[in-house]
Amino acid sequence: MVKEKIFCANCLNCIVIRQYESEPDRYVLRVRCMKKKWVKRSGEEKLYKYFTVARRIMDDCDGYAEAGELYPYIKNLRKELPIKDEIYSTRE
Ligand code: SF4
Repeated sequence: MVKEKIFCANCLNCIVIRQYESEPDRYVLRVRCMKKKWVKRSGEEKLYKYFTVARRIMDDCDGYAEAGELYPYIKNLRKELPIKDEIYSTRE
């Protein structure tokens, strides 16, 4: 039997955060694994760009907490995600 892959986007431990850059009212969106499963080679926590969240796929994960039905959620998410990293402003 083929084991289904795990989409982090459908896990309660995958959260979206604002990351403020040089200007205090401008930010980008990043995704974080609350279980700290995403790490750089250096051992530091890795954050991913929000628009790539649908690509965060694990073969297996003991921290996975299913948020809901995967389909059609993941399909709709792919359609709604920005196509590139975007800068947002708190002023608008
Ligand atoms: S706990 Fe596992 S499945 Fe959930 S976001 Fe982290 S890496 Fe992905």
